[in-house]
Amino acid sequence: MKVENALKELSLINLDDLRCFINGEWKKAEDCSTIEIINPSNEELLAKVPNASRSDANEAIEAAANAFPKWSGLTANERGSFLLKLRDLLLKYEQELASIISLEMGKVKGQALGEVQQASSFLTWYAEEGRRIYGETIPASSSNKRLFVIKQPIGVVAAITPWNFPLSMLTRKLAPALAAGCATILKPAEQGSLTALAFAKLVELAKFPQGVINIVTGMPESISDEIFENPIVKKVSFTGSTRVGRILVKKSAQQLKKLSLELGGHAPFIVFEDADIQKAVEGAIESKYRNVGQTCICANRIYVHEKVKQEFTELFVSRIKQLSIGSGLDEGIEIGPLVNESALNKVSSHVKDSVEKGATIIQGGERCFKKKGYYFEPTVLTGVTNDMLIMSEETFGPVAPIIHFNNIEDVIAEANNTDYGLAAYVYTSNMEKAVRTAEALQFGIIGLNDSSPAVAQAPFGGIKQSGFGREGGHQGIANFLEEKFISLKV
Ligand code: NAP
Repeated sequence: MKVENALKELSLINLDDLRCFINGEWKKAEDCSTIEIINPSNEELLAKVPNASRSDANEAIEAAANAFPKWSGLTANERGSFLLKLRDLLLKYEQELASIISLEMGKVKGQALGEVQQASSFLTWYAEEGRRIYGETIPASSSNKRLFVIKQPIGVVAAITPWNFPLSMLTRKLAPALAAGCATILKPAEQGSLTALAFAKLVELAKFPQGVINIVTGMPESISDEIFENPIVKKVSFTGSTRVGRILVKKSAQQLKKLSLELGGHAPFIVFEDADIQKAVEGAIESKYRNVGQTCICANRIYVHEKVKQEFTELFVSRIKQLSIGSGLDEGIEIGPLVNESALNKVSSHVKDSVEKGATIIQGGERCFKKKGYYFEPTVLTGVTNDMLIMSEETFGPVAPIIHFNNIEDVIAEANNTDYGLAAYVYTSNMEKAVRTAEALQFGIIGLNDSSPAVAQAPFGGIKQSGFGREGGHQGIANFLEEKFISLKV
């Protein structure tokens, strides 16, 4: 599909007049300023979105505060019905949403459709989970007392999301917050703004009460200053880089604002000598090249046992040579563009640094200069050592370093040798080895012979510098609840 055709099909957003969604109304930025969104597949201007000011953010927070008493006063069933209405609308407009995702951040359409499905699954799960916010009764120390714990919504919640999953990160935060009874304000990533505004349109169509969901686009510093300095906001849920996570921890100190952080990762992908090599290669390719390597849980370091290194590497390279590169909107494309020029520069710099320090490029290694757009070839490196940037920083691109190992102790030590602790993968047919390795790896998520472990009903999150808090599962709703202990004398 051509870009022009995709643009003609848009009905949820008007690219010539994009506005923030505050208190159920569509608003320009206070000073009418905008920021430009560049289409990563052709480097052309796609749209301009409002550059909301601090006072716009303040208006959104006030709107959420006004909406909170009524929204939190609804029953869990009533709130769940709104979430399910929104879910149905997401699925009704899945083609258009997927095209918008593809247009603004480059994801290939098939994967974007998968993201819409995943986004809808959070709405389904939390519409139900809201009904299971159970309290406790506690045996008292005297016969004239009764002790209870009740759970209540935390209040107004702010969410700050990244561009790499511009829709599912929204619902992974908003669905549990709303189900818990919180009112919300969302600041999407710049390169996820169109998706967020299309989502806002669906919120309007689902007839959510005014002010329950507010969406402000714009530069992050001023909006987040307001979020962190305004005492109305009781909780901030952030997904993004560890660099920005650190900034937000500092900002949260002043008011001891509750914060959960879903940050970067540096996933090891371990292939033991007894693994099904075909499946391990397919898993590694899925993990490494999904979203062109721009996922927090993507395989960053592929450790392959010495005995199977040749077989694995040959198969891996022959498979990635077949991956088709092009605009995410075109039929059959598997590798779209990177999100922007700085992403492209980072990927190039990791490859250059590795080669300068002795690595060998056995496949790819270059920007695709033939096309306009931020395309980089699927790349494989060998001879990689721990002093190379690629072994400690997130590449966030389609570069796979393959490293060899000889024994389980060494590979576990190497895999854990990172400041990050989000996801790790293990491929083996030996159950005991699988379990022991999973237990020894210092990561929040382990895929055992499984390259896509993220689902709505399970906790997703990291340890070490990959953040704190969990999203998904029953754990995900706890982020948005306070526990209150009540002691009753009878
Ligand atoms: P990012 O640069 O940290 O940005 C994330 C969000 O924070 C965006 O909305 C961004 O706004 C905003 N932001 C930037 N600077 C800020 C500041 N000083 N104060 C407040 N907000 C600020 O990350 P990204 O490039 O969008 O996303 C990629 C990163 O997210 C990777 O590190 C990836 O691993 C991580 N990630 C983690 C998970 C997880 O679940 N653990 C999931 C997905 C992605 P602008 O876009 O407007 O700058």
